Amino acid sequence: MANTAANLKSEAVESRRMLIGGEWVGAKSGKVFTVENPAFRTVIAEVPRGDANDVNLAVDHALKAFESWKRVPPRDRGRILQKIAEDIDARSEELARTIALETGNAIRTQARPEVKTTADVFRYFGGLASELKGETVPLNDNVLSYTRREPLGVVAAIIPWNAPLMLAAVKIAPALCAGNTMVMKTAEDAPLNVLLLAEICQKHLPPGVLNMLTGTGSEAGQPLLHHPKVSKLSFTGSTAVGKLVMQAAAERVLPVSLELGGKSPSIVFADADEDWAVDGMINAMRFTRQSQSCTAGSRLFLHQSIFDSFLDKLTKKVAKLKIGDPIKEETDVGTIINEKQFTKVCGYIEDGMKQKDAKMITGGLLPKDGPLGKGYFAQPTIFAANSNDWRLAREEIFGPVLVAVPWTDINEAIRMANDSHYGLAAYVWTHNIRDGIRTAHEIEAGWVQVNQGAGQSPGHSYGGYKQSGLGREFSLEGMLDGFTQRKSVTVSLAQ
Ligand code: NAD
Repeated sequence: MANTAANLKSEAVESRRMLIGGEWVGAKSGKVFTVENPAFRTVIAEVPRGDANDVNLAVDHALKAFESWKRVPPRDRGRILQKIAEDIDARSEELARTIALETGNAIRTQARPEVKTTADVFRYFGGLASELKGETVPLNDNVLSYTRREPLGVVAAIIPWNAPLMLAAVKIAPALCAGNTMVMKTAEDAPLNVLLLAEICQKHLPPGVLNMLTGTGSEAGQPLLHHPKVSKLSFTGSTAVGKLVMQAAAERVLPVSLELGGKSPSIVFADADEDWAVDGMINAMRFTRQSQSCTAGSRLFLHQSIFDSFLDKLTKKVAKLKIGDPIKEETDVGTIINEKQFTKVCGYIEDGMKQKDAKMITGGLLPKDGPLGKGYFAQPTIFAANSNDWRLAREEIFGPVLVAVPWTDINEAIRMANDSHYGLAAYVWTHNIRDGIRTAHEIEAGWVQVNQGAGQSPGHSYGGYKQSGLGREFSLEGMLDGFTQRKSVTVSLAQ
């Protein structure tokens, strides 16, 4: 078995393997690729560079395992998920360190909470195993008609790097609970913590039920999506790749779940010019995850009367966030994931600084030769603008760049909030609960929070409107609709 990630250090290079059919293996090609610590731009590990041959092997194992896994009583499958949750708790610090080292997410503010949610996700779905119930249909006294919730088969799952452990868990736990088996492909930039999760799962699962591949989107992701023996595609990532996933599903008329991008609005009413709303907004913008979050509230619609004063409070609080080495306890904000994303974020900031109609309130580019110059560090940056129509207000930046726009008429604020092809999350801030709820109902987004900017919790149906996705995860309905198919059985009792 590959080494654990417990003793990963920024200067040490670990060699890790993938999980196929219960065995820890390299790529059949023998190729590897490296994983960086983005805080120091140092290589910390190498992992197999899986391709179509490895995908074929993994799907074959998953298909074989499906025959017996689907017959394991659901409650026994649930018990296994709960044991996995306990082991995640037991190895939580090791998992959190690995997340911090490879993603650049700060250990205290992000990595540890992510591990805790991951254990909760396994515990939650483990407890739902008995809810895989069908219904009876009252046709007449001489007919018994009922439905069964049956698993789909082999689920192909592809995840991104921004909250990799939790995003892996919200696919693995419901899919396995419902009796499916899985081949998952990790993201290129953050495979190590998910491999560690697979190691924990494998202690409790029969071989082949969960297979974990490492590799690139084109070499391993594409063959996985197009594999003829896969029965469901479950994808979390960008809208652009999500469209390719949907095309692959269309070829074979497969069920597909898509958790995609966002450009989420935050509407602040005049009565919410207070510290609690500013703190909530900092949370909603996910500044302490470098705003590399699909639900980041990155468009801030502020009532005109509080525009300056709210931004002033926000700027002062944001300035207190400590940017630094993700592994250090005092750090609030870590690093951007990689050079490509860093260059993209810096490009947006440069673009914003050049706009005549926009004003940079705080932030900007960090000096290249400063103390943070080694890593991909970006500071929270806020622009004030009169329009919602420019590039920074429309495109998903996936970095700590917030655009604030004033409003006077709530209908105009709602119109601007809805003027996006995304519809993932939204936030509303007001003491007037009637205004808050009415606005929540008008916003075109899958998840609207009033007076809080929290992350997802197991139990509530989470997913996007419009081009932010299709289907729901995190919930009982998500498991039933996303990972089972309903069969009707009708029996005549007349003879
Ligand atoms: P991405 O779409 O580039 O990559 C996601 C995954 O898809 C990776 O594993 C990658 O290797 C794989 N991939 C890339 N090209 C592929 C292809 N042609 N075929 C098959 N697989 C391919 O996204 P990213 O940059 O890793 O993540 C950021 C994006 O994810 C953002 O848009 C963000 O909003 C979104 N996201 C959405 C949610 C959600 O719940 N809605 C959660 C997290 C991230």
